[in-house]
Amino acid sequence: MAEAKFDELAHYDPEKVSQVDYRPPEKDWMDTKPDFRPGTWIYPAKEKNLEYIGFPNARAWSPADKDWKLPKNWKQIIHEGLKERLDKYRSLKIFMDNCVRCGACADKCHFYLGSGDPKNMPVLRAELLRSVYKNDFTTAGKLLGRLVGARPLTKDVIKEWFYYFYQCTECRRCSVFCPYGIDTAEVTMLGRELLNLLGLNVNWVMEPVANCTRTGNHLGIQPHGLKSTLEFFAEDIEEATGVAVDIPINKKGADILFVTPSGDFLADPGTFTCMGYMILFHAIGLNYTWSTYASDGGNFGLFTSHDKMRDLNAKIYAEAKRLGVKWILGGECGHMWRVINQYMDTMNGPADFLEVPKSPLTGTVFENARSTKMIHITEFTSDLIKHKKLKLDPSRNRGLKVTFHDSCNPARAMGILEEPRYVIRHAVDEFYEMPPNTIREQTFCCGGGAGLGTDENMEMRLRGGMPRGNAVKHVAEKHGVNRLAAMCAIDRATLPAVCEFWAPEVSVTGIHELVGNALVLEGEKEREVNLRLDPIDEQGQE
Ligand code: SF4
Ligand code: SF4
Repeated sequence: MAEAKFDELAHYDPEKVSQVDYRPPEKDWMDTKPDFRPGTWIYPAKEKNLEYIGFPNARAWSPADKDWKLPKNWKQIIHEGLKERLDKYRSLKIFMDNCVRCGACADKCHFYLGSGDPKNMPVLRAELLRSVYKNDFTTAGKLLGRLVGARPLTKDVIKEWFYYFYQCTECRRCSVFCPYGIDTAEVTMLGRELLNLLGLNVNWVMEPVANCTRTGNHLGIQPHGLKSTLEFFAEDIEEATGVAVDIPINKKGADILFVTPSGDFLADPGTFTCMGYMILFHAIGLNYTWSTYASDGGNFGLFTSHDKMRDLNAKIYAEAKRLGVKWILGGECGHMWRVINQYMDTMNGPADFLEVPKSPLTGTVFENARSTKMIHITEFTSDLIKHKKLKLDPSRNRGLKVTFHDSCNPARAMGILEEPRYVIRHAVDEFYEMPPNTIREQTFCCGGGAGLGTDENMEMRLRGGMPRGNAVKHVAEKHGVNRLAAMCAIDRATLPAVCEFWAPEVSVTGIHELVGNALVLEGEKEREVNLRLDPIDEQGQE
C-alpha cells in the first residue's frame, strides 16, 4: 500500500502529534524564521481566481519558493496600506498601542497548544504586525528600534505574516481572556488584507470568493444545480419518512427567505442537516422560500477583506427585497452569523423594507433581530419547541450519545449558547457536555475555520484541532459519547477529520439532522431508517 502523504490524515500519528515541545526556541523571536514544511501551509490562490475578482499581482508562485514574485514597490504598498487602515479602523490603532504583554492570552490559542510555536501565541501573532507598526508609525520605534520591539519590514517579515496569519482561524478565543479587549482575530484579518495587496492569498479562500462572486455561493452551484440538489434531498426524505416535502424556490411573496451555508448542499453530514430544515418547514407549513441568488449564507469575504465581505453579503438583502419577503431565517453556519450579527446592518443595511422577525406559529417577536431582520434557526426552532408546536420523538435518535461543540462565531460573536442545547435536549435522550473550559464562550475552534479547512495544511489542522479533539475524547471515554453536534458548516466539514484523528469513536452531526429524525410528521410511515438511510436500530454503532 502506498505511504500516506502529508495532506492525508493517515500520514500523522496521534501519539507523535500530541508530544508538543513547549520549550521556546534558542534565538530571539525576531531571529527565528518559520519552518515552511509541507503540511503547515496552504496553496496560494490561482491566477484565474485573483483575476476574476480583480485582486492584484495574480501569478504562479509557491510559499516554498525563495522568490515570491512581489511587486517592485511592495514595501511602499504595505506602508500605505497599513497607514490607510490605521486611519480607517480605530480598533486597529488601539490593538497596536494597548497590549501590555500580560500574557493572559498566551496559552489560549489552539494553534499554540497544538504546536508549541510561540508565534502562535496571540500576543506574539499580533506582535508580527505591531513590530512593523512601531517601526514605521511611532516615535519610540523610530528612535529606539528593537529595544522597544520595532523592526523594519523585510521580505522575511512578509513571509512570516503569510505563515502565521494563515495559522489563525480568527476564532477570537484569545480576546475572551484579554483584559484590554484586544481582538487578535481582527489583527489577523487586517494582516491578511495587507497581504492581499501584494497578491499573497490562499486558494482555499480565494476560489470560494471567486465562485461566490460569480454564482452567489462558494461552490459555484448554478440555479438548476441547486434545484436538483434539493429535489434529491426530498427523494431521500421521502424514502426515510414516506412524506413528500415541498421545495419552494425563488417564490415571490413568501413570508420568509431561508439562507444557509452552501456546504450543506454538497457534503455529508451537512446534507442531512439541510434535509432536517426541509422536514421542519414542511411539518409546520411554513410559507418560506429558498433562493438561487442568495444561495449561500457563508461568506469567505470575511477571511479576505472588509470590502469583499460587504459585497458578498449584499445579495441577502437584495434578494429579500426582490422576493418581497417579511424577514429572513438563517441556517446552521458559523462565520455567516459573525458577518450578519456584527456587520450586516451597518454594512448592507438598514433593511427598513423588512419587518422585525415574528414567528407565524407562536407570535414571538424576535426583538434581538430588530436591526438585521434575520434570526438564527436554533432561535426559531427552540421557540417552536417551547410553545409545543413540534411533536418530537427523541427515541428515533436512540443509540446516539450526543455532545455539543459551540461554534466559535455563534458562541462568541452572538452569544447563542442556550438555544442549540435546548433543541438538542428535546431531540435526543442522551446529551453530555464537554469540560466547562472548552465550551460556550471558551469553546475551542475546530482548527479549520477562517479558510484553513483544506488538506495541504493537515498537520496544522490536526494540531489546531487537538484541544477540541481531546475534549471530545474525554466525553467519549467518560460517557460513551459517539456523536458531536455542531451548528456550523465549516465544523461539519472539518470536525470529522479532527474526530477521526483524536476521538475515532465519535462522528459529526448538525442539530437539525437530529431534529429531522425526531420530528413526527403527519402521514409518515413507520421510521426504520434515519436521514442517512441507516437503520435506526444500528445508530451509534458505526
Ligand atoms: S483568534 Fe483564535 S486562532 Fe487567532 S490567535 Fe486568537 S485564539 Fe488563536
Ligand atoms: S491578553 Fe491582551 S494585553 Fe495581555 S498579552 Fe494578550 S493581547 Fe496583550
